[in-house]
Amino acid sequence: MIVVLKPGMAQKEVQAVADRIESLGLKAFVVVGKERTIIGAIGDERLLVDQTLESFPGVEKVLPILKPYKLVSREFQAEDTVIKVGGYEIGGKKIHVMAGPCSVESQEQVLGAAIPAKEAGATFLRGGAFKPRTSPYSFQGLGEEGLSHLAHARKMTGLAIITEVLDPRDLDLVYRYTDILQIGARNMQNFKLLTEVGKLDKPVMLKRGMSASIQEFLLSAEYIAAEGNRRIILCERGIRTFETETRNTLDLSAVPILKQLSHLPVFIDPSHSTGKWELVTPMALAGVAAGADGLLIEVHPRPEVALCDGPQSLKPEKFSALMRNLRKVAEAVGRDM
Ligand code: PEP
Ligand code: MN
Repeated sequence: MIVVLKPGMAQKEVQAVADRIESLGLKAFVVVGKERTIIGAIGDERLLVDQTLESFPGVEKVLPILKPYKLVSREFQAEDTVIKVGGYEIGGKKIHVMAGPCSVESQEQVLGAAIPAKEAGATFLRGGAFKPRTSPYSFQGLGEEGLSHLAHARKMTGLAIITEVLDPRDLDLVYRYTDILQIGARNMQNFKLLTEVGKLDKPVMLKRGMSASIQEFLLSAEYIAAEGNRRIILCERGIRTFETETRNTLDLSAVPILKQLSHLPVFIDPSHSTGKWELVTPMALAGVAAGADGLLIEVHPRPEVALCDGPQSLKPEKFSALMRNLRKVAEAVGRDM
């Protein structure tokens, strides 16, 4: 439910309504808007049956949220969420490109991607230190050593960092190094992990599960938001279909659908969705044309010797050409880069 309060209420009165909601067994999320303060009453709404919140002092009206996900829905918050992180704003007018290798392999390799990525206009450095590999025999990542290479690259280039956390037991460690926590496609429904990152004060990029519907995707985001962390970026990274020419099928329509259903920023990952470096640029351009707020792109100084995802990684010069083309598309759809 959305509880709309009368204008000009004092903080104490707002708190009294929130306390009343919580005493009924629901969680109260206070959102102070420019004109109005609203409270999201989230939880089992059957607890509100027979309760006349509308008659409570200061309450103007009570509206149901019809979607199963609540806090992340447009119904709950009409304005776009803009996330401040690393000196940038994600979800505003500027398109953000997060670039870097699939996995961190060495300091030299990370810098070999980070320096040209920064020069080309990327704002974040991506790179996995804990890798969710399909085979247990594939390279699993460097762990903390990988995180320290990312931190060094941040110092050298000024790029902010995004890196994946696979396991709640690694959260403290990853939290210390990263600016944004990435939850991978395979963990989109790892509800324990979602709940844990929901308690933290750093933004989370949630990648869509490869067989997840949009509703399931948003319900996973809701798990994070329900714990208090509402700085969530949604990332469409391709879904499983019958098509075998690409690694996954990029669901481009997910971008405008997600923007319609949710106020959260939406990114596209053209690397994992195609699996082929030749397809990365056209899909990146299409993603921004479709309204994406940013891109997550794999860049490797030497893709031919990459320990992970070489075939879909761009060489730095190809990445810089992509960025030049992207600027034109961004401008055409009224965005900055
Ligand atoms: C990644 O971005 O490093 C990754 C593993 O992607 P996904 O979770 O989308 O497969
Ligand atoms: Mn990868």
